[in-house]
Amino acid sequence: MAENLLKINNLYVEYHANKGILGGKTTIHAVNGVSMEIHKGEILAIAGESGCGKSTLAKALIQLEPVKSGEIFFENKNTLTLQKYDLKEFRKKAQMVFQNPYASLNPKMKIIDILKEPLEINTDFTPEKIFETVKEKIKLVGLDESCLELYPHEFSGGQRQRIAIARALMLNPEFILADEPVSALDVSIQAQIINLIKELNKSLGLTFLLITHDISVIKYLADRVAVMYLGEIVETGKTEDIFTSPLHPYTKALLSSVPQINKSGKKIVLKGDLPSPAELPQGCKFHTRCPYVMEKCKTCIPEEKGFTHKVKCFLYE
Ligand code: SF4
Repeated sequence: MAENLLKINNLYVEYHANKGILGGKTTIHAVNGVSMEIHKGEILAIAGESGCGKSTLAKALIQLEPVKSGEIFFENKNTLTLQKYDLKEFRKKAQMVFQNPYASLNPKMKIIDILKEPLEINTDFTPEKIFETVKEKIKLVGLDESCLELYPHEFSGGQRQRIAIARALMLNPEFILADEPVSALDVSIQAQIINLIKELNKSLGLTFLLITHDISVIKYLADRVAVMYLGEIVETGKTEDIFTSPLHPYTKALLSSVPQINKSGKKIVLKGDLPSPAELPQGCKFHTRCPYVMEKCKTCIPEEKGFTHKVKCFLYE
């Protein structure tokens, strides 16, 4: 059985937002009772429509979003109760690659300084050792050390994303959260970054949590997929199982909307829009749009069933 790097128990994340001209505050229920594991050395992708809570969940895992309740275990330690030293160690081991490499690199710093910074802050390496490590990491992402004296604006989008990945690798992390890592790039360059992520996963045994709305990227990169709807994980399984035998009606609809994957051409069109996370439906959260809705779906919440392929739906009880 695969070893867990992260284990999440019953996680909730909420925001309080202004109601607008009416005044007062409303609660946005962004993540609603998520429990799941991320195995050591795997690429786990979270799939779901924009606004389903996948980025919020990912950021909560590395403490970029405050958690309302729940537990997050990283290497068997609850990260939400870590004290100063352990928290610093956790932050070294868990790094993030952002969507937009234009915004995530400081335009006023040379690449060498961008890459040196995490080592200068977090290690007691000598300047020589720091320089050696910078050269090693820039090579690892497929760039030449001659680029170290340049500034971010002197690179293409794909090269900048390679630099952002090199920066995430500086402290030898075990876990990388990649939030839409290719969606800001030209299609012609996306494949290079996707292949780089796959290479780093294989050669370094790095664990990735991949957040993307691009189902084709998930199919190519991920070992397992978790499908998210209104802040809940509704189906989890190996990528092959999710793509060949999706169980949850939402997963089926999501996959049917991708022409490269849906060879039958029969698209499942869901009624209505994604409900507001400020007004979550009772019962199964998908019942307002589900083509198979039953009376009990409107009031009762289905439990998760299954072992390696898990689903939350009354059709499988
Ligand atoms: Fe549809 Fe009911 Fe299953 Fe929810 S529990 S996905 S409403 S059939």
